[in-house]
Amino acid sequence: MKRPIHDFEPGHLEMCQVCNSARLEVVLDLGHQPPCDSLLTPAQLNEPEATYPLRMIRCTDCGLVQIDHVVDGSKVYHQEYPYRSGITKELADHHHRLSIDLVRRQHTPADSLVVDIGSNDGTLLKGFKRQGMRVVGIEPTNVARFAVADGIETIQSFFSDTVADEIVKQHGKAKIITATNVFAHMATLGQVIRGVERLLDDDGVFVIENHYLLNIIEQLQYDSIYHEHLRSYSMKPLVQLFDYYDLSVVDAYRVASYGGSIRVYVAKGRGKPASPSLSNLIAEEKQAKLYDTETYTAFRNKVLQTKRGLYKLAVDAERKGERFVGNSCPGRCSTLLNYVGIDRELMPYIAEQPTSLKLGLHLPGKHIPVVNNKILFEEQPDYVVMLAWHYGQPITEDLRRRGLKSKLVMPLPELRIISE
Ligand SMILES: [Zn+2]
Repeated sequence: MKRPIHDFEPGHLEMCQVCNSARLEVVLDLGHQPPCDSLLTPAQLNEPEATYPLRMIRCTDCGLVQIDHVVDGSKVYHQEYPYRSGITKELADHHHRLSIDLVRRQHTPADSLVVDIGSNDGTLLKGFKRQGMRVVGIEPTNVARFAVADGIETIQSFFSDTVADEIVKQHGKAKIITATNVFAHMATLGQVIRGVERLLDDDGVFVIENHYLLNIIEQLQYDSIYHEHLRSYSMKPLVQLFDYYDLSVVDAYRVASYGGSIRVYVAKGRGKPASPSLSNLIAEEKQAKLYDTETYTAFRNKVLQTKRGLYKLAVDAERKGERFVGNSCPGRCSTLLNYVGIDRELMPYIAEQPTSLKLGLHLPGKHIPVVNNKILFEEQPDYVVMLAWHYGQPITEDLRRRGLKSKLVMPLPELRIISE
C-alpha cells in the first residue's frame, strides 16, 4: 500500500489530509478570518491584519472533516500564543485525572518516561511527575516558560522525527506519549506520526485527545472550526490514518472535555485487534449518518438559523440602547463573532478571568477589547453572551453565585436566553 502524503505546506489544500482524495465537498464557508488566537495589542490595531480562508470541508472518500487552508505554523503558534491549560480549572482537573487513569490502565512502572506533545504550561506532565514518572514536554511557544519555572523539562520546539531521536538518545523510549488537543492542529502530521513510531516503546501507548466530530455535528459546534483545527476527527478516518504506519488504533471512547472529545489509544504494530469500545464507536458513527451528505446539509441549515438569531438579538439590543456584552474569550469565540458579524459597536467588550493572558488585547477581526470580568458585576449589563457556552453550566453557576443578574445568552446549539 502506497502511503499518502501527510505533511503539508502552508496554503490552499486540494486533497484530503488523510487519504489524499480530491473528492471534497464544502460544508460551511466561514469567510476569510484571522487566526483565532492572534489577539491584537492596541498598537497592532493601527496595522493591517492578515486573514485566511476558513472553510469546513469533507472528504467523501474517507469521511474526514477538515479545512482546506494551512496557515504557516509560526503565524498561528506565534511566540506569544496566549493560551494556558493550567488556568482553566475544568481543564486542569481533567488533565490531572487523565494522568492518573493512564498510569493505572497501562500499569506503568515508576521512573518510566512520559512525553507530552504540545505540553503547553506543563499541567498534564505535572500529574505524571507526581506519580514518579520522568517527564519531557515539547512546546513551541513561550508558554513553555511556565512549565520550566515549575521544574518540567521542556523542549521549546515543534515535534518531529528529529526531536524524537534526540529524546530517545537522552532519555530512552517512552512508555506513554500524549497529545491532547494538538493532534488535529499539525500540518506536518506525517512527521509527528513517524516521530511517535520512533519514540514509543514496544509496549507503550500513544494517547490522543481531540474534539470529536460527532459532538461538533450533534451540538452544532461550528465555532470549533478555526485555522488551528486542520482536522475534526471521527474514528473511521483516524483508524485509516494509523493503518498507513506501523501503528494501530486499539481503543477509543468519548470524554467530556472541550464540549465533547474522543480519547484514542494507539499501540505499536500493524493490525492490532480493536476493543469493543472502538467497534461500538464506529457503529455509532454509522448510525448517526456521520458519513452522509444529508447530515451536513442539515447541519449547515441549523448554523444559518442560529447565526440569524444571534445577530438579530445583538442588533435589537443596540437599537434599544441595551448593553450586550460577551463573557470568556476562548479561541472559538473568534470564529463565532467574526462569522455572525458582531463587532464592538454591538458588543463593547468581552469579560475574561483576571489571570487571562488575553486581558488588554483585542479580539482578532472584530477588535472587541478583552477586559477584566469584574466589570460585569459593577455594570450588570442587560445581556451577557456565554462565548464559552460549551462550559455553560459551571460558568453560569459561578457568575450567579458572584451576584450577576444579567440575562445570559447561550449562542449554541440553539439560541437560548436565561433570566435569573
Ligand atoms: Zn479522505
